[in-house]
Amino acid sequence: MGNSVIYRSLMASFLFFLGLISIYFTAPMLHAEDSKLKFEWPIKDLELAPLITSTFGESRKDHFHNGLDISSVFQPVHSMADGSVLYSRYREDDPFEDERGSGNIVWLAHDSGYISGYYHLAGSRHENIRTKSKVAAGEVIGISGNTGHSSGGHLHFVLGKDYGKTLLDPLSHLPKIEDTMPPQIANLFIHVGEKFTNLNDGDNINVSKAFPLTMSIFDGGVKNSQRRGIRDIEFQFNGENIKKTNFMSIHYEKGKWLTENGLSFEDLYYKDRYLVGILNLKAGENTIKVKSKDFSGQESERSFSINITRISGEN
Ligand SMILES: [Zn+2]
Repeated sequence: MGNSVIYRSLMASFLFFLGLISIYFTAPMLHAEDSKLKFEWPIKDLELAPLITSTFGESRKDHFHNGLDISSVFQPVHSMADGSVLYSRYREDDPFEDERGSGNIVWLAHDSGYISGYYHLAGSRHENIRTKSKVAAGEVIGISGNTGHSSGGHLHFVLGKDYGKTLLDPLSHLPKIEDTMPPQIANLFIHVGEKFTNLNDGDNINVSKAFPLTMSIFDGGVKNSQRRGIRDIEFQFNGENIKKTNFMSIHYEKGKWLTENGLSFEDLYYKDRYLVGILNLKAGENTIKVKSKDFSGQESERSFSINITRISGEN
């Protein structure tokens, strides 16, 4: 009797142990299956949240910002995963040429077609890049700097997949960091030629034809002083959805970088602001509504109502 109780409790703990083993062994397999690898931050040992100065997909005058900017200088830069050295270029390679915009760079290749790029590095090639063809996750591959077109020391970090045909938002793939401010929807503007003017909710204006309307929206991160780009945007004009996209990835297609749902830089930006559209405002009340999410999924929305008097255009 006593033996059988002992036997049953032994059996129970054995089954429990087996259960643990199977969880232990299936978890990494599931992980490999969904091919989402674990990446590490390239800058460590610093409180990162306030150091993210620019996000992926922001406007850079005539192209998308293709990486994440991490403010730092003379900090060790670490490989985001196990990988091999794909390419590196340093000032010392061509001392008589003008410096390139990206400054000193290192590119690494990782499993499953992922690649990572590290720009504006300081000094000369790190010993690990000079002497090795493979690097481990977390291994130092350079020192952050301010080389190339860079105002203030920062690491421009690029994450790609499909060997670089698609670039990804690093914030969606690196370990989460703190973000307390939702997107700040600041102003609506109407552009007439090179001039533009701010439209407030409830304004009355005269228009003669369609003009570009833009919006300034930024994500405050952890301090409202940060002015970063947003991850999702959706515009409605008089109740109709006119534009929607996210900045989680861009891919190269027919000579252009496009967001996931096929929108180009020119579709999304105008004069460094988010382009609502080239809108033909009708006589009477017009409503422009925007919904936006930041890189941690916090949402903001705002609606502008503009009263229009149509005047005959001089064209
Ligand atoms: Zn950058």
